[in-house]
Amino acid sequence: MASYYPDELISEVISANNLVDVVGSYVKLKKSGNRYMGLCPFHGEKTPSFHVSEDKQLYHCFGCGEGGSVVQFIMKMENLDFVETIKFLAARAGINLPEGNERSSDGEFFKKKQAILEMYVSAARFYHSRLKSEEGKTALSYLAQRGLDAGTITRFGMGYAPNSYDALYNHFKEAGFSEQLMLDSGLIRKNDKTGKLYDFFRDRVMIPIFDIRGNVIAFGGRTMVKADKMKYLNSTDSIVFNKSKTLYALNFAKKNCADRIIMVEGYMDVISLHKYGFTNTVAGLGTAFTREHAKLLSRYTREVVLCYDSDEPGQKATLAALEILSDTDLKIKVLTIPGAKDPDEFLKAKGGAKFQSLLDSAPNHVLYKIGRLKQQYNIDNTEQKIELVTKMAAVFAEVKNDIEREAYVKEASLETGISEEAIFSEIKKTGLSAPSRKAPTHSFKTAAERDDKTDFRTEASLLSLMCSDVPVWKKMRGRLNADFFENRKLAPVTAAVFAYSAEDMPPDFSLIVSKAGAENVSELCGIVSSQQQVEDPIKAAEQMVKKLEDQKQKRLIESAAAEGDLATLADMIKNLKK
Ligand code: ZN
Repeated sequence: MASYYPDELISEVISANNLVDVVGSYVKLKKSGNRYMGLCPFHGEKTPSFHVSEDKQLYHCFGCGEGGSVVQFIMKMENLDFVETIKFLAARAGINLPEGNERSSDGEFFKKKQAILEMYVSAARFYHSRLKSEEGKTALSYLAQRGLDAGTITRFGMGYAPNSYDALYNHFKEAGFSEQLMLDSGLIRKNDKTGKLYDFFRDRVMIPIFDIRGNVIAFGGRTMVKADKMKYLNSTDSIVFNKSKTLYALNFAKKNCADRIIMVEGYMDVISLHKYGFTNTVAGLGTAFTREHAKLLSRYTREVVLCYDSDEPGQKATLAALEILSDTDLKIKVLTIPGAKDPDEFLKAKGGAKFQSLLDSAPNHVLYKIGRLKQQYNIDNTEQKIELVTKMAAVFAEVKNDIEREAYVKEASLETGISEEAIFSEIKKTGLSAPSRKAPTHSFKTAAERDDKTDFRTEASLLSLMCSDVPVWKKMRGRLNADFFENRKLAPVTAAVFAYSAEDMPPDFSLIVSKAGAENVSELCGIVSSQQQVEDPIKAAEQMVKKLEDQKQKRLIESAAAEGDLATLADMIKNLKK
């Protein structure tokens, strides 16, 4: 993990923050046996499945699978990167960090962040009160016209930015915020010529944007003037807001989205869908769908239904989002809105029941892509038919499940009269020539990882046992080396364990996990957290080593057999008999 602090200092900061205390300041924890339990802050639940182990200094949620050390916890809760997290934890423990050149001083960054969050709450209250005042009358009737009732307006904290040069500025000034903070918030701008400060949002309906915990972190402002070219004006990114990492209304949806999340284009669609009871709906914020969005979604649900505008840009955006989502383990469906430009318009015209039936019959991403292709080609023209089937084969090549792929091919063959064999051989060709998947990013599995036959669970258990038991550490550290552990997802952890040189004292596993970054940490902590206390740790470790050795042997035999390497095979079998 790249960082500009010395390793020992990072260790000191992490060790100074007891995980139980840190988690306890966000989540109500109850002691149960040798661990603490509470309601998971990362997914909505009514019965606690969030476990914190004080002696292991690791947490794990048995509901959503999140897990890690104090570092991953703060990274996720506060939406910080690693260096920011170390600063946060240092400030919390009263440890002075050497000055970095990037930010003025420790703690100050977080104080500023806190102050800006306060400003956003203050601004949201201000806008909301203006909406209910005399000057907000037009805005209020505009919202009513769009079918929004008082309950919805309050629930979404909607407001009105007055048609004034400095109404919010004066409000902030009265509340005692400094001009620098006002400028940093992005809500107040400076006129370069006159040096005067002015409100960024004027005469607009204001929609607060929340982070996952419900803090206001930005605003969307919608004009009521038809001629205004800027239909929506959004907050720019700030130290509290990153639009490529934020999904509008996810704070509401996460409580209601156990099995699926509906993803739409705009706030008004979200608000409308929530009003009709589809409270598991979220939207991007005027930016293309990002990998960060995909990661966020996979944290809260298993199925995503894309429901973008029915126009061509909307459908293009759908295909782009599908491209990113296909790298995740999420189930993906696509809902196209018939006879209306967006979900909001559809709901108003046809109602919630009709939308529900669209939702129930939404095709998965493969069938959606095939459907689009079929619209573009005339199957009665031989040339076009060939092109169509070739393109269909490229879509089928992306299907990971063999049975699923075969079902699609059968159907395509029936429809087009092209034999299944021909389609399969085309799939093989496109599959091979397809550009390799994008660079692996955190929770996205690369093809190599999916094929990784090494035993993540046993390797992880053995590593953690080595770090928690002195006799096991002493015995295994000399006998094994980093190469023995072959799972590539564990490589940073393995390397750190074996880089540790003290013979009599194992390294602190939670420290290693902290520094290993966010990749696969949740899975790792899940395994470590569910590990039972063993009576004879040495024996348990030996068993794990044996299991891993047997698996290695089996893999070698398999690959020799696959390659037809009879000499090696004979050798191995001889060795097995010994
Ligand atoms: Zn959870």
